[in-house]
Amino acid sequence: MKAIRVERLGPPDVMELQDVPVPTPGPGEVRIEVEAVGINFADVLSVAGEYLTRTRVPYTPGMEFAGIVESLGEGVTGVQVGQRVAALGGSGALARYSVVNAAGLIPVPENLSGAQAAAFPVSYFTAYHGLKTLGRGVEGEWVLVQAAAGALGTASIQLARAMGMHVIALASTDEKLALARDLGADVTILQDDPDRVQKVRDAAGGKGVPLILEVVGGKRFQESLDMAAPQGRIIVIGNASREQANLRPVELMKRNLTVTGLWLTSLMNDRAATMQAAQALAGLVGSGQVTPQVGPTYPLADSARAFQDLLDRKTTGKVIIEP
Ligand code: NDP
Repeated sequence: MKAIRVERLGPPDVMELQDVPVPTPGPGEVRIEVEAVGINFADVLSVAGEYLTRTRVPYTPGMEFAGIVESLGEGVTGVQVGQRVAALGGSGALARYSVVNAAGLIPVPENLSGAQAAAFPVSYFTAYHGLKTLGRGVEGEWVLVQAAAGALGTASIQLARAMGMHVIALASTDEKLALARDLGADVTILQDDPDRVQKVRDAAGGKGVPLILEVVGGKRFQESLDMAAPQGRIIVIGNASREQANLRPVELMKRNLTVTGLWLTSLMNDRAATMQAAQALAGLVGSGQVTPQVGPTYPLADSARAFQDLLDRKTTGKVIIEP
């Protein structure tokens, strides 16, 4: 079968299309015919060797995908051959077939296409934890969403609106801000607007924003502290700038700010919390309150271009690769 292989770490063009054997599911595993792979910023960092966990080469990237269960390993119950599922594995999805542990499968709401199902798990579970579990957002409260037209940003806007929150969206172009408004953002501001800090504070009533989903990092992290309301909560989810940030604890003390880290991979280990989130999100998808935003879609052979476009900030919604 065709698969993307990475033999040395580096920029997206280290990825090669190769012929590899079809993988066999071991005990407790299932083989899935991959319909669509959702590409995350984490995949780009993983190929570059800059992710939170060490990338071992050679390997096939791709952590989030949807497809049809094609074969069951020994001892697998509760999953049917022919069923559409979404999966979050560590890697291996950029291929015709992928093998994952059956315990990690995520049920797909029935009204989603394969591409929408592949756009769902990472962004929506992360948004859920950022806004609700860790962020403790409540109805009527303001939240700041950065990179608002991206995969996580679009999920966060929709979910925040479904929770009755008010959204301030930051993004790098007018087109991206228009998408954020279409999805329900109340206020949109260009992320390079010279008056952005004051505009964000004013939009939230003058005192700053009570909840911030921080994904850019670097010197923008300091700005997030400046945009936060007294006692504000800043949820650190990403570092798209790939720059170091400075944090002076005394500044948190002075304004009673809380900075909380969020890494979905470790949160997903809590199976009960994951199932609770899955149920809540499935309800919102079923009622049409949230709809995964499928972005540009590429064939497997163009995987390097897909990764580069994500890195170059050319994409909106979830980048999808269809093997
Ligand atoms: P997106 O689809 O949001 O694409 C990344 C976006 O980041 C770009 O479109 C761009 O939006 C913005 N960005 C800002 N600064 C830069 C920069 N210097 N270089 C490149 N992009 C930049 O990707 P994802 O939804 O996959 O991820 C968004 C962020 O959330 C990432 O930081 C990612 O690592 C993080 N994340 C973390 C998770 C976790 O478990 N902690 C889970 C999921 C995502 P614009 O042009 O509008 O600035």
